[in-house]
Amino acid sequence: MQPLAAMTWEEARDAAGPASAAILPVGAIEAHGPHLPLETDVIIAQAMARAGATRLAARGSRVVILPPLTYTTAGFAHGFAGTISLRPETVTATLLDIAGSLTRHGFGMLAIANGHLDPMHLASLEVAVNAIRRELGLTVAFPNLAAKPWALRLSDEFKSGACHAGQFETSIVMAERPELVREAAMAALPGNPVSLSRAIRDGRTSFEEAGGARAYFGFPAQATAEEGRETVEILGAILDESVQAELK
Ligand SMILES: [Zn+2]
Repeated sequence: MQPLAAMTWEEARDAAGPASAAILPVGAIEAHGPHLPLETDVIIAQAMARAGATRLAARGSRVVILPPLTYTTAGFAHGFAGTISLRPETVTATLLDIAGSLTRHGFGMLAIANGHLDPMHLASLEVAVNAIRRELGLTVAFPNLAAKPWALRLSDEFKSGACHAGQFETSIVMAERPELVREAAMAALPGNPVSLSRAIRDGRTSFEEAGGARAYFGFPAQATAEEGRETVEILGAILDESVQAELK
């Protein structure tokens, strides 16, 4: 299956239709420890989109993968160099505009493959999803990995909340883009078991305040490409199932 950006407009016209799903990978440009690139969440989102699209296509669904949304709200990481953070209302407006174009051109559904879990970002996506359904009448699948039931399918480290640039995310980058992992730095990193989800509940608003002075949480030194490949399959299954649920 071809990515939308590589299609001609006539190919895109023929790919659209009521039974078609457009998958939007959503990531961020934000600090991910001393061992992972700023685009880590984009890499994760694109892997989720590809694995989900493969499953959907195998069922006979018509799927296109959109270019990723790489800029978003990243307030927790904003103190770290290289992080680019948009205002939440910019993110919501951008998603609404993308969905507006998809609706105009006859795509049947928007599916969001999101790899970035900053709470303000997730909130801006939720606002956008509700507005897209209400104002455009477009079906949207948005499995929020930070919430039930999807979070329960992911690793113990992820569920503990120590889930930023740790074993979970590092494993996926090792599987997808091994050349981007600074392996010597990774192997030397002590574990940081602080739960980001608990820190968020306690009102912290940055990685520094939460106890992540180098912008990572969890156990990056334990990451493996094998775990990353398994996780990508799970993420693909989650996207597939959430699309199926919207089609019913
Ligand atoms: Zn991340």
